[in-house]
Amino acid sequence: MNLVAMGLTETIKNDFHKLNTNDEMILGRVALEHKRMYRVWTEQGELLCEVSGRFSFNALNREDFPAVGDWVALMPRSNEGKGTILAIMPRKSKFSRKSAGLTAQEQIIATNIDTVFLVNSLNEDLNLRRIERYLLLAWESGANPVIVLSKADLCQDLENMLAEVVAISLGGVPVIAVSAETMTGFEELEPFLKPGKTIALLGSSGVGKSTLTNRLLGEEKQLVQDIRMADDKGRHTTTHRELILLPNGSVLIDTPGMRELQLWESSDGLTETFSEIEELATQCRYRDCQHKNEPGCAVVKAIEEGLIAAERLTSYNKLQKELAFIERKADKRAQAEVKKQWKNINKQMKQRKSY
Ligand code: GDP
Ligand code: ZN
Repeated sequence: MNLVAMGLTETIKNDFHKLNTNDEMILGRVALEHKRMYRVWTEQGELLCEVSGRFSFNALNREDFPAVGDWVALMPRSNEGKGTILAIMPRKSKFSRKSAGLTAQEQIIATNIDTVFLVNSLNEDLNLRRIERYLLLAWESGANPVIVLSKADLCQDLENMLAEVVAISLGGVPVIAVSAETMTGFEELEPFLKPGKTIALLGSSGVGKSTLTNRLLGEEKQLVQDIRMADDKGRHTTTHRELILLPNGSVLIDTPGMRELQLWESSDGLTETFSEIEELATQCRYRDCQHKNEPGCAVVKAIEEGLIAAERLTSYNKLQKELAFIERKADKRAQAEVKKQWKNINKQMKQRKSY
């Protein structure tokens, strides 16, 4: 296996050498996770790995465990087709979501994605607000977004639709219209599909992600990608491989979780997607202006003057509310985490005393 084509960079290699341990340790990329068992691509082939006991002990949160797309340092046992993961290399980008339930715990869906295709269908229900939300998610992840408008063959008014999308794609995000039906627009995707680059598709169900994936794969090769993996009770389950090598040499990450992503944690993402509102807000008379009916509000003024659309402010406000809600949940989670850490420390102290 050629790890460079699979995304191995000098930075990752340097991080690996800094670990400065055993000569036998090698690098690999996680292609699939199933109940804390990992299929890892390495120079010695694909190995079935678990994390070491020490790794497990130090991992406090779910996000401390490997995820699909991660580069990991591992000790191979190639003759058994197995290995032990000792460390995760720093993540270049990550997609995560808050897991269901009362606590807002982070669940990592996929990591080290270079470009994320935000797929939206060009039929009548093209939703600009939804594209904004996906853009926000992409900025938060650290991956570069590309807006892919699918089903171009179904669109009567391509020029106007494109103009509307370009208007919200701040920061020069590329907007590319494609049709899997007539195979148009695919050449514009090629610059993002170079060997060593990792891509992922994000978008609502029905927009054409599977169709696009199959076109990128060349044929309906996804079936061939299915593998069998033993679960912890020794039963065999068929699992879809989530890291896929495309014919042109790039890597596609296709996890079920990528399809149902939600917002997670506030970050610079908000500033980037709504930069024009953020910028105007600095000119509001009051620092804590809610842009409702405060005097001297620069945002409301800009809407009245037709400089920005009123819906932009509505989406912005809605997002802020959502982010505040998630943050409050994350706070509770953080408190629980601190308690848990104290418990661990207490336990260790007791153990030490008994030596
Ligand atoms: P997914 O849920 O995002 O994976 O969407 P699918 O790939 O399953 O596509 C949903 C439907 O849209 C299917 O019936 C596809 O045949 C259809 N579809 C996908 N791409 C195109 C396209 O470029 N043009 C047209 N007309 N239909 C498409
Ligand atoms: Zn204001």
